[in-house]
Amino acid sequence: MTYDPNNIFARILRGEVPCQKVYEDAHVLAFNDIRPQTPVHILVIPKGAYVSLDDFSAKASDVEIAAFVRAVGKIARDNGVAESGYRILANHGVHAHQEVPHFHVHIFGGRQMGAMVPKS
Ligand code: AMP
Repeated sequence: MTYDPNNIFARILRGEVPCQKVYEDAHVLAFNDIRPQTPVHILVIPKGAYVSLDDFSAKASDVEIAAFVRAVGKIARDNGVAESGYRILANHGVHAHQEVPHFHVHIFGGRQMGAMVPKS
């Protein structure tokens, strides 16, 4: 997958499309998912142009990677799910049904989760 600069998250980063922002720093933006699947459903994205975790892990700087991981933990704590528990998920590519080709992590929380992976 090549990076499409007109993907929806790139447009959110450029301020062309609104989002419900929950966190921002120099390297990271986080906002509520538009179709939440759990009471807490937050998307965390790097500001850099990376297609997926595959791309991010290979090309991002150590500073970007550290900022991203720290932000995920902080956002979960700040949104009240660190104690009750939460799930993070990052889809990469066709088998995972990745919809948006800008790396993002989902934070799901606020209720009991089902099976980790559907059976089919
Ligand atoms: P994925 O399948 O991991 O690529 O998931 C993409 C996620 O982005 C889905 O959960 C969508 O509901 C979410 N999404 C798509 N467009 C927007 C948007 N404009 N604002 C917030 N979330 C969005």
